[in-house]
Amino acid sequence: MSGTRRLGRVRRLVVKVGSGLVTAPGVGASPPRIDALAADIASVSEGRRIVLVSSGAIATGMARLGLAERPRSIPEKQAAAAVGQSALMWQYEAAFGRHRIPVGQVLLTAQDISDRARYLNAKNTLLALLKFDVMPIVNENDTVAVEEIKVGDNDNLSALVASLIDADLLVLLTDVDGLYTDDPSVNARARKLDTVDAITDEIVGLAHDRADRVSVGGMATKLQAARKAAAAGVPMVIASGLEPGVLRRVLDGESVGTYFAPKADRLGARKRWIAFAVPPQGRLTVDAGALAALTQRGKSLLPSGIVEIEGDFDSGEVVALLGGAGGKEFARGVVNFDATELRKIRGAKTQEIEHRLGYKSFDEVIHRDNLVIL
Ligand code: GLU
Repeated sequence: MSGTRRLGRVRRLVVKVGSGLVTAPGVGASPPRIDALAADIASVSEGRRIVLVSSGAIATGMARLGLAERPRSIPEKQAAAAVGQSALMWQYEAAFGRHRIPVGQVLLTAQDISDRARYLNAKNTLLALLKFDVMPIVNENDTVAVEEIKVGDNDNLSALVASLIDADLLVLLTDVDGLYTDDPSVNARARKLDTVDAITDEIVGLAHDRADRVSVGGMATKLQAARKAAAAGVPMVIASGLEPGVLRRVLDGESVGTYFAPKADRLGARKRWIAFAVPPQGRLTVDAGALAALTQRGKSLLPSGIVEIEGDFDSGEVVALLGGAGGKEFARGVVNFDATELRKIRGAKTQEIEHRLGYKSFDEVIHRDNLVIL
């Protein structure tokens, strides 16, 4: 569970701040908090390109609209986000302006990440901003995204951004100073982990979340983010943003917060997109033979191995593959057929595909190059 921190030269850094850090109840975006964050970021900005992923739009909008509770209806939440996002950016603009760091707002939706062309477009925009020495400030576009199609939390969003720009480090600043072996507010013997080598089920079991009204994410989403970052080869640190100068200490390799090691065999950019960036558009259940062929022998998925098809997807979209006892998801891949075609050829031998469809098409349902075993 523990090892050493390996931080190479960090040139591209993604910092994520939670709502709880940059807002205060009843006030929304908090000038002293945002000033402290700007000073902290400015202190490490020399020679680095930094992307800030900031929550706090909805919390700020709530304060501006005089709402004591997080709104429940989607339009109200979206209205709060609209009001809050501009108020938040206005403060960032002022705070980073004092450090001569120009900022640019980037609002992303899940579709900007799930659609390959839009994903590459978002990437190019971020890279162009960095080239202009502008610090992008990213949030989910809460005013248009509805719940079902959202990334949903900025922990996961920040890991996707880190992967998108090939960051050297992702730092999640929050109000706790790392991952504990138990809830420290309940168990006095709870111990903070300094480094985590792999996000095992045991590690995931350590996530103790308090439901509070301002933030969306908790430890669970931070560990999902850690998993995404690790697969992308990006080390991640969870640290307390309440501690002044914390970013400097993290970058100096000091033992603050919890460090999550990246995987050595990082997935390539396209496979990362398949594995993590996309909510799958459908689910295919495969038989035991196909499961073994895919997971143990590196084969492509053929129609003959498919037993069940769920969802309404197009060819070129990402689907989840389920199999084995309990039908757990074990892989994701880009399908060569749409759902209607696939229902016609399910279970078919390769030579029967043309006859069943009435035209010649692919042999594989998912080519091995477009498949990621999770
Ligand atoms: N995007 C939301 C906001 O800015 C927050 C999401 C999160 O806290 O993870 O209010």
